[in-house]
Amino acid sequence: MRILITGGAGFLGSHLADHFLAQKHEVIAMDNLLTGRLENIEKLKGNPQFSFIRHDVTQYIEVDGALDAVLHFASPASPVDYSQFPIPTLKVGALGTHKALGLAKDKKAVFLLASTSEVYGDPEVNPQPESYWGNVNPIGPRGVYDEAKRFAEAMTMAYHRYHNMQVRIVRIFNTYGPRMRKNDGRAVPNFITQALAGEPITVYGKGGQTRSLCFVSDLIRGIDKLLHSDINSPVNIGNPQELTILEIAEMIRKLTGSKSRIDFRPLPVDDPRVRRPDIGLAQDKLGWHPEVSLEDGLSQTIEYFRK
Ligand code: UDP
Repeated sequence: MRILITGGAGFLGSHLADHFLAQKHEVIAMDNLLTGRLENIEKLKGNPQFSFIRHDVTQYIEVDGALDAVLHFASPASPVDYSQFPIPTLKVGALGTHKALGLAKDKKAVFLLASTSEVYGDPEVNPQPESYWGNVNPIGPRGVYDEAKRFAEAMTMAYHRYHNMQVRIVRIFNTYGPRMRKNDGRAVPNFITQALAGEPITVYGKGGQTRSLCFVSDLIRGIDKLLHSDINSPVNIGNPQELTILEIAEMIRKLTGSKSRIDFRPLPVDDPRVRRPDIGLAQDKLGWHPEVSLEDGLSQTIEYFRK
């Protein structure tokens, strides 16, 4: 296959590039480097099957030659990033998705959208199945990401229904691993960086809110299976092991051997109180389930941050 990955220099995009190159596919990574980083794809530079195009996908996308798949992963994705770049976040989810769909249609390629558990907002149903419509505040600080991704899903389904395009939508739940940015503001990189530096670990609110953390290699395997399936509607990929943020902070403190104290800070606006994927669909239809334990995954991530 010849595959275009938008956001190809980002955390997930670069892991996807590694994965598909290892399977001998050809990969074109496209990124405007707003939150992506060239160092994520540095070691792919010499690979003749790999190329990089610096481009903002909210502008018309030009790619020479055939494409078999377009994986649309371009977007700021951490709450701190998308509150810093609210308008680029809305634009890449809306205009960027439109451009990437148009390209996929032109090339007769499968289109895969990186969607998110944020489409469920602050959920009133736990765990969240794909059939749940969500509880999103459209005008809150998270709305720029949540609504952009909800629009992107609507646009993707419209191209499927109106243009008969083959589409895949992965709803990605909290994912962690090497190549997360130290300063992206998310819980895992914050806690690891703070624990390693012996600085206070900042838990927002009372830390009773829950998240379910999926290691990046499990996510990538799930996305590969989804791409090769015939499911044109959203599929949750995530790890159903649900923990409180305080439990996650304590686990990271233990695994790093840190003596950092835990500092409680104000809870951000509209912070979801619970989040856990119902992965029944991925399990039944893709034969996928996560395999990496939280201890293993966090240890690998801590190693990366140490270096
Ligand atoms: N969080 C925290 N301390 C931090 C960063 C995040 O307690 O230094 C909390 C945040 O309020 C949220 C959870 O950890 O409840 C996960 O936040 P993250 O930014 O990783 O992603 P989200 O799941 O909110 O998109």
